[in-house]
Amino acid sequence: MTDGLSYPCLFGTMTPVTRFCPKCEAHQNTRVETWDEHYECDKTFIVISITSRICVACGEALGNDEMDQAIIDTVQSIATSVGQRKKGLTP
Ligand SMILES: [Zn+2]
Repeated sequence: MTDGLSYPCLFGTMTPVTRFCPKCEAHQNTRVETWDEHYECDKTFIVISITSRICVACGEALGNDEMDQAIIDTVQSIATSVGQRKKGLTP
């Protein structure tokens, strides 16, 4: 058993290919990329594998508040389950 946990998060990959990029301040073509964000929770290493669109011109991740919130929710729910597992509250 490893102490690293990996969770996938998918955002907006089905949305139109052209999106407004705040960095370019213009509509740009986008492509789907996957990258990992690392979090540590109660000494447990958590990897969130994020799939989202990025700006082809500048590489900016075109997330939104919804995506940020979903990541926070995911990390918090993982934190809760990790905490419960350590206390033996879940099977
Ligand atoms: Zn851009």
